[in-house]
Amino acid sequence: MSDVIAQIAGLLLQARRSLLIGHMDPDGDVIGAVLGLREALRRLGKEAVPALPDRPPSKYAFLPGFAELTTAPAGSFDLFVSLDSSDTARLEPIYSTVIAPAGRPVINIDHHVTNVMFGTLNWVDPKAASTSEMIISLVDALDVPMEREIALPLLTGIVMDTRGFRTSNTTSDTLRAASRLMDAGASLGEVMERALNSRPYAMLCLWGKMLSTVRLEGRIAWAVLTPAMQAECGNPEEGDGGFINLLVSLQEADVGLLFYDKGDHAVEVGFRAKPGIDISGVAFALGGGGHPQAAGCTVEGSLEEVRARVLDMVRRAIDGQRALYR
Ligand code: AMP
Ligand code: MN
Ligand code: MN
Repeated sequence: MSDVIAQIAGLLLQARRSLLIGHMDPDGDVIGAVLGLREALRRLGKEAVPALPDRPPSKYAFLPGFAELTTAPAGSFDLFVSLDSSDTARLEPIYSTVIAPAGRPVINIDHHVTNVMFGTLNWVDPKAASTSEMIISLVDALDVPMEREIALPLLTGIVMDTRGFRTSNTTSDTLRAASRLMDAGASLGEVMERALNSRPYAMLCLWGKMLSTVRLEGRIAWAVLTPAMQAECGNPEEGDGGFINLLVSLQEADVGLLFYDKGDHAVEVGFRAKPGIDISGVAFALGGGGHPQAAGCTVEGSLEEVRARVLDMVRRAIDGQRALYR
């Protein structure tokens, strides 16, 4: 593992101008990993452009370098670094328009168990609770001292992907990594308040609408989100705002599913599972990906068709699987 990190550090040091890119619908982990690595490279005088396919939620504006994040990277690049993305579809439209035509090396740094190893160089660690946690080792390999401007985005990534150190993939290594970032000057209280414990009033309006759609079918709790519901609430940022986590917290449920019916005969499906249950395979089989307890995909079809198909697949997948603590 340390071999590939040294190779990645070598490529970054050789590059003249690199593009750091993360997945669409950006979350705290991808934003933190992109901005933390960008700040470390800046310390070395290296030009690295931070990019995301979609605008990041405005609550992350407190992170150093947030204003530099672009959705339309311009100019030429001799190296590409993909962060927190399990496949190239999650990097679109930037992958097809900027990365593939350039014909330059692509470094793939990620922690999704479903990663398809699309890079020229792949560093994929499914045991890591976040990609941001992995970037600490890369900062060390680059020989850049850990400082607040690097540590704050990385701590944000760790906190958001572990939902405040609550997910079952949070290890003692995760806590040590967070301690180190706090020692470098990142405030855990600030990250908790600004990133994790923060939502607009409009999101509560949306939760109200989603609550009225919740159904419990056997061990599966599911709910629906539509663009019309979002519009009625003033289009809050951040999709479901973590509502899906509420579904899987139900004592009766082993799996939570959120169906985002985009209205164009395609439904985005979010998956959550209790510890001990693995739904990443279902999301992967449907063209998406994720982690054992958190995954996603987009499925063609009407809401009713997709819901019936996905529920059936999940039922089969979890038949014989047991939650650890219920
Ligand atoms: P979400 O429900 O959007 O928070 O996503 C849960 C997890 O699944 C995250 O780790 C995502 O990166 C991953 N994920 C969501 N949608 C997809 C997709 N279409 N393809 C691959 N991974 C996904
Ligand atoms: Mn992510
Ligand atoms: Mn992640």
